[in-house]
Amino acid sequence: MENGMENEPVKILLVEDNVDQRELTLRAFQKKEPDIRITPVETGPACLEALGKGRFDAVILDYSLPMMNGIEVLSEIQTKGYTAPVIMVTGQGDEKIAVEAMKRGACDYIIKSQNYHQTLPPAARKVIDQNRLKRRLEKNAQRVHRLYELSLSLATERKTTVLSDTLVEGAKELMDAEGALLFLIDAEQGEILQTAFAGVSFEGGIPQGPLSKLGLFGLACQEKRPILIEDPQKHPLKGATPALQTPLRQIFSIPLVREARNLGVLNLINQKQGSFSSEDRDFLSTLCVNAAVALDNARFLEEVEKRAATDSLTGLYNHREFQKRLGEETERASRYGKAFSLLMLDIDHFKVFNDTHGHPVGDAILKEIVKVIQKCIRNVDFPARYGGEEFSVILPETIGIHAAKVAERIRKAIDDGPFVTPTGHRVHLSISIGVASFPEDGRRREELILSADQALYFAKKDGRNRVCRYCDTLKAAIEKDQNKLTELLRNPEIKTIRDLAAVIDAKSPYTRGHSEGVIEYALLLADALNLGEQEKQSLQLASLLHNIGIVSIPDSILNKPGPLSTEERKIIQAHPGLAQMLIKESHNLDSVLPAILYHHERYDGKGYPNGLTGEEIPFLARVLGVVEAYHAMISVRPYRPKMSHEEAVQELRKNAGTQFDPGVVKTFLEILDKRNPA
Ligand code: GH3
Ligand code: MG
Ligand code: MG
Repeated sequence: MENGMENEPVKILLVEDNVDQRELTLRAFQKKEPDIRITPVETGPACLEALGKGRFDAVILDYSLPMMNGIEVLSEIQTKGYTAPVIMVTGQGDEKIAVEAMKRGACDYIIKSQNYHQTLPPAARKVIDQNRLKRRLEKNAQRVHRLYELSLSLATERKTTVLSDTLVEGAKELMDAEGALLFLIDAEQGEILQTAFAGVSFEGGIPQGPLSKLGLFGLACQEKRPILIEDPQKHPLKGATPALQTPLRQIFSIPLVREARNLGVLNLINQKQGSFSSEDRDFLSTLCVNAAVALDNARFLEEVEKRAATDSLTGLYNHREFQKRLGEETERASRYGKAFSLLMLDIDHFKVFNDTHGHPVGDAILKEIVKVIQKCIRNVDFPARYGGEEFSVILPETIGIHAAKVAERIRKAIDDGPFVTPTGHRVHLSISIGVASFPEDGRRREELILSADQALYFAKKDGRNRVCRYCDTLKAAIEKDQNKLTELLRNPEIKTIRDLAAVIDAKSPYTRGHSEGVIEYALLLADALNLGEQEKQSLQLASLLHNIGIVSIPDSILNKPGPLSTEERKIIQAHPGLAQMLIKESHNLDSVLPAILYHHERYDGKGYPNGLTGEEIPFLARVLGVVEAYHAMISVRPYRPKMSHEEAVQELRKNAGTQFDPGVVKTFLEILDKRNPA
């Protein structure tokens, strides 16, 4: 408003009923201030009407008027809130009236002396100039205050998106512009990172790519100085400038710079009243200095947060972020009764790949695999690096069968490969994927992870390069129907027994490979002890099935970190008995029973379930007891880290004769000595 007013002609409303006085006044102005336009009226009501309709820079008001006198008119002017300054003209000697007039807001008074017409024009000019100055100062004070408020809200904002929106809105208002456009760029690459706009919008899409794509809007940033473009339509760069829906009249463009780094550029479009004054430009420069600091800080914070949430090799979310998101997703799904699924992916035989091609090539391939995974999922899905060469993907609002299809798509895409190493070798890789779904495979975060992980374990067991849903596993079938286990054990074949051993091993990451590990040592020991074929086979079956009772122990107890409660310990100690109950149904397994039932008895009689001593404990149970203890010691357990081979040997030796059969320990240690020569 003010900008425009400066250029408009000065207008005075002259309220004078006397024709001669009016003529003299008009003539005096004509002579001394020919640029001032005078609108003459004769009465108070006519004066108020004119003020209501148009803008005047001053009013010259005669006191003695018909209908209302000057003081009454002044009162009305005050009541109606008209702001034009009033010069009161009073009759000779009417000083009281002059004082009264000043009280009511008149800013000057002139007594009608003989040549008062001559003094009116310079007096009016003075009043007008003072008034304009006053209003400019007031407006500037408001603007300074607004600038201060805006800078403060920018400085305290931590999100660059919010900051950018605040900046464009604030700058547009502060400059009284039709629009504002902000482009934030990557200081090194000059690529547009973020765009914000207010009051105007683009005709095509939002510009992307390098700074050079911005034409006039990027000029200030390229030249590293503020630029005012008064006639953009004629500028040679106009054609290269993204088109706006508003025609361009002016652009005031200012770079955002912090410590010699170009952070972006702010463009103000079309000053509403005319043009951007030098004062406007100073204001905006100050704002932009503050904005640059605020943006740089916010960006730095976002970068730090992002780095803390992502994995540096693959750029995927990291393990911690995955856990957090899975927790949130579980909560949301519970609250709104929605489904979602979780994929656990593990590259097949990646150790061999690393051993063949080297770790750096392995790293490069990991990145390629991540790209394939990302191509197969939606934007709303949440992929993370679970650890090493294992990944996880959260699929919001996705039921199990659909999740399995996504998993199959990923599996196939990786299997189709081929991948090319940085050294130019074409290689084939495959991946195994476990799928678990909320709520059927777990209602809590840990349960879902365990189910997906167990499904992955079965996918591996089943030959790798495949997808397995938790609900399709034998473990899930047994959990659903307890009779299933008894049924399977009634007439078991070795295949069934191996499948069951896999279920036991799958129960917990800590029991993975346990049955198989125990078999390996048991067979070595059987040879060294010269066992017959029949006994050897029984020992083998007992090794596979000795933990069958574990199937009935809840995964949560089995995987509990930290010490168990008395109740939980009782449940664990019941497993040999449970095994017996399960197996006694099966006629083929009679010979295996004693080994299974008594493998936790101790040589000194302090074991369970019956407290048998020494030779009372069936021989195969004593053999199994030693082998199982050794294997457990060298594996990680939820409540303790794994022991080294030497520590485990030490432990066996220490407990020979108390916990273990000393003869069996002796033979076993001889075997271990041969396998692990010092
Ligand atoms: P499988 O999963 O099929 O049972 O066999 P695997 O060989 O992949 O077995 P496992 O999952 O136990 O081994 C993981 C291997 O992945 C160990 C390590 O060599 C490799 N690995 C884990 N993290 C990284 C990594 O960041 N970079 C590279 N290059 N290799 C990794
Ligand atoms: Mg792995
Ligand atoms: Mg693997």
